[in-house]
Amino acid sequence: MKKLIFLSLFLVSLTLTSQEKATLDYYLPSNTNYNKNIPTPESIIGHEVGEWHITHDKLVYYMQALAASSDRISIENRGETFEGRPLLLLTITAPKNHGKIEQIQKDHLSITKETGATQDVSNLPVVVYQGFSIHGNEPSGSNAALAYAYYLAAAEGDAIEKLLENTVILLDPSFNPDGLQRFAYWANTNKSSNLNPDNNDREYHEVWPGGRTNHYWFDMNRDWLPVQLPESRARIATFHKWMPNILTDHHEMGTNATFFFQPGEPDRVHPLTPKINQELTTEIATYHSKALDNIGSLYFSEENYDDYYYGKGSTFPDVNGGIGILFEQASSRGHIQESENGILTFPFTIKNQFTTALSTIEAAENMRVKLLLYQQQFYKDALTENSKNKTKTIIFGDAKDAAKSWHLAEILQRQKIKLHHLKSDAKINGKAFHKENSYVVPMNQRNSRLIKAMIEKRTTFTDSLFYDISAWTFPLAFNLDYTEVNSTANLGEEITALPTLSGSVGNLSNYAYVFEWNEYYTPKALNKILNKGIRAKVGEKPFSVEGNTYDYGSILIPVQNQKLNPEELHTFLKEVAQESYIDIISVGTGHTLGIDLGSGSFQALEKQEVAIIVGNGITSYDAGEIWHLFDQRYNINLTKLDTDYFSRTDLSRYTAIIMPNSYRGIDKAASEKLKMWVKNGGTLIGYRNTTKWLAKNEFIDLRFKNDTLVAKDITYEQKQSFFGAQVTGGAIFETKLDRSHPINFGYKNDVLPLFRNTNIYIEPDKSSYNNPIQYTSNPLLSGYISEEKLKLLSNSVPFQAKSLGRGKVIVFTDNTNFRAFWYGTNKLLMNAIFFSDML
Ligand SMILES: [Zn+2]
Repeated sequence: MKKLIFLSLFLVSLTLTSQEKATLDYYLPSNTNYNKNIPTPESIIGHEVGEWHITHDKLVYYMQALAASSDRISIENRGETFEGRPLLLLTITAPKNHGKIEQIQKDHLSITKETGATQDVSNLPVVVYQGFSIHGNEPSGSNAALAYAYYLAAAEGDAIEKLLENTVILLDPSFNPDGLQRFAYWANTNKSSNLNPDNNDREYHEVWPGGRTNHYWFDMNRDWLPVQLPESRARIATFHKWMPNILTDHHEMGTNATFFFQPGEPDRVHPLTPKINQELTTEIATYHSKALDNIGSLYFSEENYDDYYYGKGSTFPDVNGGIGILFEQASSRGHIQESENGILTFPFTIKNQFTTALSTIEAAENMRVKLLLYQQQFYKDALTENSKNKTKTIIFGDAKDAAKSWHLAEILQRQKIKLHHLKSDAKINGKAFHKENSYVVPMNQRNSRLIKAMIEKRTTFTDSLFYDISAWTFPLAFNLDYTEVNSTANLGEEITALPTLSGSVGNLSNYAYVFEWNEYYTPKALNKILNKGIRAKVGEKPFSVEGNTYDYGSILIPVQNQKLNPEELHTFLKEVAQESYIDIISVGTGHTLGIDLGSGSFQALEKQEVAIIVGNGITSYDAGEIWHLFDQRYNINLTKLDTDYFSRTDLSRYTAIIMPNSYRGIDKAASEKLKMWVKNGGTLIGYRNTTKWLAKNEFIDLRFKNDTLVAKDITYEQKQSFFGAQVTGGAIFETKLDRSHPINFGYKNDVLPLFRNTNIYIEPDKSSYNNPIQYTSNPLLSGYISEEKLKLLSNSVPFQAKSLGRGKVIVFTDNTNFRAFWYGTNKLLMNAIFFSDML
């Protein structure tokens, strides 16, 4: 009985009554003294932790104040987000470690190198990278970071001092500053002073696109491998600088859940992750369960979440000699919410994150030598694997697209993968590689496992369920020429810093300028030319002139009858070439082999005004990828039209409108308006499930292949796995191209890998020339797809273009702009826009 009373008292103090304000002691361990000279969060930000949602600017003030008052903390700004917010990192360790922090970092890094294979690790600190709220609307992490950083700065006594002597903590208080700020604004502006747990309240229903993502609506917890976003660049640089032994990633999940920590599903671990990694994860987990038991908090592990895609924060360390840990806390979303587990308060969610941040460093300290030895062994084993294959090299490039090859090289450099120039132009395994736009990667290097994770093609799997994509093979995503050889003969000089990209224009011409369409940034160039009011044409057929050959889709700029005189035009094109990294060639005659420059096979091009439909009903990721592509890569204006006011907008100024993935499309008034606009000559481009909506609403006539899957001998328990196995979560497939079709201008090969994460299959048109992109008969290149779905996909078409009135409706069943790293298919959208009249 006595015991029972004690327990219930304990739980009351844990859960807070629904209107009670949490003070700092609610989070902190009670039996500890705190240094009075360290400012509490409340003293700087003006409210208690958990009373309001922390805005990023206040979080920055607090972390700076903390660093200024504590000799345990140093703070640095590693860059800024798209919205200009600082990307802070706090390095927290014992003051005496701070005095020799560079040496500690060097010694730590050295155990991952060949020279460190026998190094004594017993006296080295363990390195723990703790990151919070990469999804901005999963705020308990970043809010917990306030109390956690305070604790690390202010706690007194032997235990914490010893811990800090043995540990270097890299504290990243907000993985996603722009998203956190957006969400805090929402939750705070909708808060009632009488906290309202009714989950119908507006407080718990953010407006589109929500705070999960960054400025361009990217899920940054998918970017650890491709490193395309500024926030990831800062993180990955810190990661490779320190090679942490443990990296934690604090998230939130549904309100009715409890708390999750890894290990996740045992069968869903990437095969390149060593078995011991999961054993260590399990051992670390014992610290979390003990800590959560102590505060009476429910939790689970070994289910739901996987450890497969290396682009996630909790999986990326697993292929880099560390241990990645995912935490998922049930979300109160706003300040307090009803849940199946009773009233869920925001402070309670923060407390769980705080508690597991603490149990993580406790585990790290106790397992320090074990974790360091594991890391050392990981790299020793990687080098041993290489010793069987010391001369293996990977060669990639694109003879006609230097920028695209350069961008893959850039990713490899960010991931600290050693890379060389190609020694000289060569034809290797039937593919032509040019010295100036090809790269060679020797497999005999410490990061060989990471290289494998980035380039391998995998088509067999032990499990058919994936939390995220099942393939991300980079040379396929970049559509590069790629080969492997067992020889170092092609190895040129090692690249320490990538040479910058450049472009040029030939001598002043009084006749014409020409450039091919293959280079990645040609749409940027063409857009700038057309915006300037310069006339340009596109060649429908190949030709050669003055010793150079030009493929389908080459751009012609005549000199005469332009609004710029020949000198001005030359100067302008020089600027265009330099900004877009392309070579523009001067031509002195219109007489060519093939179509002459005055031929009717050159089609005049028009200046484009492009809009995109965004808002409720549209998938924000897909829309954001397109916005980012236009704004960051091609400098093309893209007007975002919200579904909210679309039907009241005058569309007449737009030449093209993009409708990203949508399941339910737009409302009837908006739909009628859009159709009228197409009939009057507009180009509508629909993606993924929008294809089905457009067909249903009679924008385009398409025939779909439907699946006839029936569950036979499937029990109720197996139902979820049965349907899960039919999901194409993200895999790579081969298509064959009709290169003479304008949608394929700028592609030099007859095959093109496409990324696909939908189950939509369009029957080919009966006229073969209307099927310029078609899945091959056995299209799987990399990743998981069920046998049934693969059969449907074979020979189907991912692209169709049809007339509607005087306009065009163009559909893609697949996302050609996936997560900013699918450079290989970005040009398809540009072709659909600039060459729509010819489609
Ligand atoms: Zn999350």
